[in-house]
Amino acid sequence: MDKEKFDLLYEGKAKKVYKYNENELLIEFKDDVTAFNGLKKSNVVNKGKINKKISEFFFKMLNKESINTHYIKEYDDSSFIAKWTNLIPLEVIVRNFAAGSFCKRYGVEKGYKFDDTLVEFSLKDDNLGDPMITKDAILLLKITSEDVLEQIETISKRVNKILSNYLKSKHIILVDYKLEFGLAKKDGRLTLIDEISPDTCRFWDDNTMESFDKDVYREEKGNLINAYEELFRRLNI
Ligand code: UDP
Repeated sequence: MDKEKFDLLYEGKAKKVYKYNENELLIEFKDDVTAFNGLKKSNVVNKGKINKKISEFFFKMLNKESINTHYIKEYDDSSFIAKWTNLIPLEVIVRNFAAGSFCKRYGVEKGYKFDDTLVEFSLKDDNLGDPMITKDAILLLKITSEDVLEQIETISKRVNKILSNYLKSKHIILVDYKLEFGLAKKDGRLTLIDEISPDTCRFWDDNTMESFDKDVYREEKGNLINAYEELFRRLNI
C-alpha cells in the first residue's frame, strides 16, 4: 500500500518507520534480509509480510499478558501502527541455549542448555558493530537508569517464559532472541518495541533441531522463506 503520505523517519536493514501521528508510528516490514552486520544482503519475496504477521502474533500475546509493547493495530499486510517511543540504545539478548556469537566467544558447543536464562546487553551502534556492554558501563555511560535497567531485565525474562511456554506446545525451542525497548513519547512508559520474528530469534524443532530462523540464511542451510513459512504454520496464526 502507498505510504508516501507519511513522513519516512528512518529506514533500517529490515524495516521502514513512518510518522503516523504525534504519538504513533507506522512500521513497515521489508523483504530485505541481511546478516553479519549488513555484509551479506538479499531480497526475499514475502519475508516482510511473514515477519509482520509473526511479530504481530507475539506482540498481541504479550499485550494480553500485560507486557507493555508498542503494538497497537494492523495497518496493512506488511505494516502495523505502533506507539512512538524514544529508543534506549541497547540490544537485550536473551539466551536459553548456546548458539551464534555465544559459542564463538566462549568456545561452547552449539545447543548447550543453560540452567537459567541468560540476559546480555549490547550497545546498539552499527558503526561499532553492536559491542557487548556490561550493566555497570550502561549506568556509568548514563544510557539508562538503574531502575529502568532492572525493569528491562525483569520484562525480558517474563517475555521468555510466555514465549517459550507457547512455543514448547508447538514443539519449538526458543533458543535465543533480541529485544529492544523505548520510553513512550505519550506517557514515558517503558515499552517493548521493534520486532519479534525469525529475523531476531532462533527457533529450533525440539526433535530434529532444524532451524526456522535467519540461521537458514546465515549458514546457507536451505530456503529462508520455506523455513519462515513452516514456523508460521506451526504457530497456528
Ligand atoms: N540478534 C538480532 N540482532 C542483532 C544481534 C542478534 O536480532 O543485531 C538476535 C539473533 O538473531 C539471535 C540472538 O539475537 O536470535 C543472539 O544473537 P547472537 O549474539 O548469537 O549473534 P549472531 O549469531 O546473530 O551474530
